[in-house]
Amino acid sequence: MSRLGETALVLFSGGQDSTTCLAWTLANFGRVQTIGFRYGQRHAVELECRPVILAEMRKRFPEWAAKLDEDHVLNLGIIRELGASAMTHDIAIGMGDAGLPNTFVPGRNLLFFTAAAALAYRKGIKTLVGGMCETDYSGYPDCRDDTIKALQVALGLGMDRRFVLETPLMWIDKAATWKMAEDLGGAPLLDLIVEHTHSCYIGDRSHRHDWGLGCGRCPACTLRKQGYERYCAKREGRLPA
Ligand code: ZN
Repeated sequence: MSRLGETALVLFSGGQDSTTCLAWTLANFGRVQTIGFRYGQRHAVELECRPVILAEMRKRFPEWAAKLDEDHVLNLGIIRELGASAMTHDIAIGMGDAGLPNTFVPGRNLLFFTAAAALAYRKGIKTLVGGMCETDYSGYPDCRDDTIKALQVALGLGMDRRFVLETPLMWIDKAATWKMAEDLGGAPLLDLIVEHTHSCYIGDRSHRHDWGLGCGRCPACTLRKQGYERYCAKREGRLPA
């Protein structure tokens, strides 16, 4: 069923995944709003990437420019106040308690979706889109499909309003995320993602690689790099598609 008559709200951080989700939403919905969060993240530079990405989207894809509506940035500083993690404090990235990486921020995605749904309620928007992925981040319990489905039900009940939480990347790996970008927007979108999106956990944008800017060593850079290399290998026939 076409949803070109509908508006969707995209959780847009300025990273590779949420930018790919933004493109997916622009291809599938009639109007698109975006929301980002300032929560004391170490890689707050991603917030500076967001307006650049939006401007490049408008410039490179005129048909999408007509659909791109309001952008919102909300302050969720409470996440940092609740306690230290390697995502919000200058702590070495490694394994933490319960077999989870210490980049895990308890409740982060739950708060993001709850805040986004509260805004969507006021705007009359039914569909929320997020880049959560069970395949790559199986360590993060708030990226799991069951969590998102349960949250969809909870938000719907709690606001007495039907919400649909879409997660187009849930079951694909990072190589397939690059391929999805290629399918949605070809070379102009791939180039935009390489050049302007930010993934590096420690906020480094001083080192340039084929796959973008970042330290090249943190878990987020490693995931992005390995995905890009597998995507290129498949594209060039060195790995089966
Ligand atoms: Zn990095």
